[in-house]
Amino acid sequence: MTIKIPTDKEEAKKYVISINPATLEELGKVELMGAQEIENSIKKAEQAFPQWSSLSIQERGKYLLKARDYILKNLDDIASIISKEMGKPRVEAVTAEILLIVDLIDYYVKRAPKLLKDKDIPLHIILLKLMKKSKIVYQPLGVVTIISPWNYPFGIPMSGIIFALLCGNTVLFKPSSEVPLIGKKIEEILVKGAQLPDGVFNLIIARGSTIGTKILEPPVKKVVFTGSTEIGRKIQETCAKNFIPTVLELGGKDPMIVLDDADIEEASSGAVWGAFTNCGQVCASVERVYVHKSIYDKFVEAVVEKVKRLKLGFDTDFNVDIGPMINEAQLMIVEDQVKDAIEKGAKVLVGGKRPPNLKGFFYEPTVLVNVNHNMKVMREETFGPLLPIMAFETEEEAIKLANDTNYGLTASVWSENIDRAIRIAKKIEAGTVVINDHGYTYGLCELPWQGMKESGIARSHSDAGLLEFVYPKHLNIDKSPTFMKHRLWWFPYSKAAYEVAKDFTKFIVKKSIIPKILLKMLFSKNYRKTFIGSK
Ligand code: NAD
Repeated sequence: MTIKIPTDKEEAKKYVISINPATLEELGKVELMGAQEIENSIKKAEQAFPQWSSLSIQERGKYLLKARDYILKNLDDIASIISKEMGKPRVEAVTAEILLIVDLIDYYVKRAPKLLKDKDIPLHIILLKLMKKSKIVYQPLGVVTIISPWNYPFGIPMSGIIFALLCGNTVLFKPSSEVPLIGKKIEEILVKGAQLPDGVFNLIIARGSTIGTKILEPPVKKVVFTGSTEIGRKIQETCAKNFIPTVLELGGKDPMIVLDDADIEEASSGAVWGAFTNCGQVCASVERVYVHKSIYDKFVEAVVEKVKRLKLGFDTDFNVDIGPMINEAQLMIVEDQVKDAIEKGAKVLVGGKRPPNLKGFFYEPTVLVNVNHNMKVMREETFGPLLPIMAFETEEEAIKLANDTNYGLTASVWSENIDRAIRIAKKIEAGTVVINDHGYTYGLCELPWQGMKESGIARSHSDAGLLEFVYPKHLNIDKSPTFMKHRLWWFPYSKAAYEVAKDFTKFIVKKSIIPKILLKMLFSKNYRKTFIGSK
């Protein structure tokens, strides 16, 4: 069975139509921008940059605090539009998205001035210390493009936008065309709520398939993309043509390792939340569970019992745990993986189908056992409510299975022995490994978010993520005494210069020759020539 949403072809050429994935009702439509309008936005962003970047961080922070207050004032409305357009229950809209952004603005408006202060680089060679001074000054980049997916349609783009603006950049923001109304809401927060000057923030409403490459080309100075590995690769290829740097946060296939000494009650709850929050449509979803064979049966039994208690549906009364998937295409990936797994010998213990009583893009939370690495469900990103569980015998085997993937976003290790868990965590190829929890760290703005392997390049959130939005320019200043007119490394070259350079090469490792060098500086002709420039 496929759910077809009737689309008027002429309308679809002009608008992005917003659909509630739980009820299939139309929520509204937003006009698509043409090539000329996109170019106009890029120009506006470019023109707004000099003035915006000339404000102090504190002045820019004041605008962002207004955005924070506007979010707080309109929290119910924002949670409701996230839930209606994307499908997640409102509790998740708050815990995983709105709370993060309110906290991130609050924390980094206070922290950024310290972080972005000029920093001296201490020179370690004594003579150079006397002659030179170096420092890093952080400069805004210019126009920054932020492209985001639909699964965390508020939290993901807003964290990038806030960092970019705080650092003094102007922004082009392209939301996923699955969530245009949330894109409009973000625009409202920044334009009406924060009252940003014209051109500082620019919403680009376009489909990924037809947008072209303008927002990935000069004058854009950086592209921050969150989305699939497939599209991330294309973005990287386009940006590489103009050496435009990127931050890429891409797909995942996160493993969870449950050791024999894990708390089964805790680990099974963690697995169920980790796999089914946001209906499994999380880059850091638990997509593979490896459990030690000695506790496998008990763990599976606990998981199945908890999954059976989950409530699926549209959140009208704060009484559901899991919403719908975003669309038919995503549902079909899940169905295909379940079919493939069953054909290759897997067993469905709970779920495994669309619920007959719900009309939207729903799929029952599903637990699979008898799985192996020949199945798509253990190799390809699912991005849906599947939880495959596999037994292992040794730690080495668990680590090998966890690393048997092209992805490397996050992972988790569950054990009562923290030292043992840390030892294993260090061997897992993932940007973040959480011990006795999973995936939640995206919600804490001071912690880095980053992928290894095909899960991404560079980082968002944390101080390192903020620094992605500035250029750490190096300034080097001469402070030699006025009588020192010459430098060791300048022309003309001579035997004398060679002898002095030799002394200094030795001096770098042999501090005992300092008195000798000092004496030579005072009395040697060679030295005078080299540093003072005298004949
Ligand atoms: P997607 O790659 O299909 O789209 C992401 C964004 O890119 C959308 O806004 C889309 O319109 C846009 N886009 C597509 N083609 C484009 C092009 N040629 N030029 C410019 N923009 C283009 O991903 P999705 O389906 O929206 O999101 C799901 C994927 O995102 C999953 O793979 C998931 O793992 C990943 N994701 C990763 C993270 C992370 O932090 N690592 C977070 C959330 C989602």
